[in-house]
Amino acid sequence: FAGLATANHLARKVNRREVKITLIEPKEINVYEPEYLIWVFKDKPFSDLARPISKILNKSVNWLKTTATKINPENKIITIENGDEITYDFLVLATGAKMAEDKIEANIKVNNICNFYTKEGVEQLKETIKNFDGGTIVITPTTVPYKCPPAPFEFAFLLDNHLRKKGIRHKSTIKILFPLSRTFTKVELAKNVENLFDKRNIKFVSFFNYDGIEF
Ligand SMILES: Cc1cc2nc3c(=O)[nH]c(=O)nc-3n(C[C@H](O)[C@H](O)[C@H](O)COP(=O)(O)OP(=O)(O)OC[C@H]3O[C@@H](n4cnc5c(N)ncnc54)[C@H](O)[C@@H]3O)c2cc1C
Repeated sequence: FAGLATANHLARKVNRREVKITLIEPKEINVYEPEYLIWVFKDKPFSDLARPISKILNKSVNWLKTTATKINPENKIITIENGDEITYDFLVLATGAKMAEDKIEANIKVNNICNFYTKEGVEQLKETIKNFDGGTIVITPTTVPYKCPPAPFEFAFLLDNHLRKKGIRHKSTIKILFPLSRTFTKVELAKNVENLFDKRNIKFVSFFNYDGIEF
């Protein structure tokens, strides 16, 4: 998303006769990840979150629908999948973050472990929440850095709201296990958010760094 956004932004700023912008991106579809959190609680198809890149990319950007396989920074050359070489003056590297589910020693499908970082993750989360009838839900980013600092807190509030509407909040515990000392680096903001947790009976545990999970 950042690469696409940067390409669009630059395309609007630069003189197109002097500057050539190329996007190297194999995917045809861009999925708007911030909506994942809301989508979990909505009755909407997943396709609502997806947009074809061809529709949102500035027409003046040269889009190579392929993967970069090698970068040679000394000579400013990128090799793409078919072996062709692309030269550049400036490179914006925006290859994103990948989930590393293989690092979790659990069958996440059967152990009620969900995430809001992938299509499969949010689909499973949506289904799990639909069938949830009370109990404890733990939200934990496990470590830093992770995508979107407020996402676990946003999710906790959305979940709280959902469970209240469903009439099962009284038999549900929402716990956030967080590796740092407070929700945000800005003290005032952190205090406000943590006060809201108290009001909503969301348990916030700071400095939580776990050694493992017992399944
Ligand atoms: C639940 C959730 C809520 C969020 N909420 C917010 C929010 O409120 N505000 C906010 O600003 N952000 C938010 N974010 C963060 C933001 O949406 C994502 O972090 C952002 O989309 C990531 O952008 P990215 O460009 O780094 O990675 P990606 O969107 O993953 O893009 C990386 C791209 O690089 C391509 N790529 C990878 N390797 C290669 C290669 N070798 N060759 C060519 N292409 C390659 C991939 O195909 C991919 O399309 C949220 C994220 C999540 C998950």
